[in-house]
Amino acid sequence: MAHTIDPAIREALEARLRFYRDLGLTEYFRRPFDPALISSPDETPTSEPISGETSARLLIAVDETAESTIPISTETAQETQAIPTRKPIATPPHIAPSVAAADRAEALRVIREDIGDCTRCALHKGRNKLVFADGDPNARLMFVGEGPGADEDAQGLPFVGRAGLLLNNMIAAMGLKREEVYIANVVKCRPPGNRTPEPEEANTCSPFLFRQIDVVRPEVLVALGATAATYLLGQRQPLAGLRGRVHRFRDTKLIVTYHPAFLLRDPRQKKEAWADLQIAMRELGLTVPKRV
Ligand code: URA
Repeated sequence: MAHTIDPAIREALEARLRFYRDLGLTEYFRRPFDPALISSPDETPTSEPISGETSARLLIAVDETAESTIPISTETAQETQAIPTRKPIATPPHIAPSVAAADRAEALRVIREDIGDCTRCALHKGRNKLVFADGDPNARLMFVGEGPGADEDAQGLPFVGRAGLLLNNMIAAMGLKREEVYIANVVKCRPPGNRTPEPEEANTCSPFLFRQIDVVRPEVLVALGATAATYLLGQRQPLAGLRGRVHRFRDTKLIVTYHPAFLLRDPRQKKEAWADLQIAMRELGLTVPKRV
């Protein structure tokens, strides 16, 4: 007896699968068949018919049950309520298997292709160029900023304006070249007037950042400023309380420091930022210059 699927349910499921593909989730496992979920024309449904929205929730991956103190979008909040909470986790676990060093550039290209000419959030409306990332796909050190500014939006590269020049100096002070590190942002399109990305924008875009991190697998991540720290740690906390120690993003060491744009406004804090970068250097086994 052939079962039919309501077109609205089919559409909702297809949209959900596209969303998971964007996140890099491509494998699905069948749960035991529940006849209550499907009715055929010649059968009386055994339960209330389910809406497309409800059925889409049935496909939600375990990862989305994670409790997070990041303000989450209404849609995600509704979905989370619909699923019994399991073990709380601060940030999503790895969503991709590790990629061999030789394949990382190609894996990043695929992520860029998945992002496409993105219209997933409102930030696309003011975008000139989408800013994906810059640097070495096999970098040991990765910096994560907040989102593109005017210069980045014009050039399509992260940290190329005044804050970028300071970041370049910070990288050079660590004894590295910009081309040796990997640089990306929480959001890939410029927020209007350089405002902080809204939670909905950051929650929509950050899964791509997480995929980039999964591919590059840096030994050390440096979160530049509160937005990067919030979305990498999965919780909002004052920056001052996060600096000066090693956190974890999944299984990668994460160090939090001031955003270069903040350091341009308050250069007295450069000393503190340098102390944070020295922690990163120690974790990477780089020689930390002695004080003179
Ligand atoms: N500020 C950021 O957070 N990222 C950039 O790419 C540029 C400025």
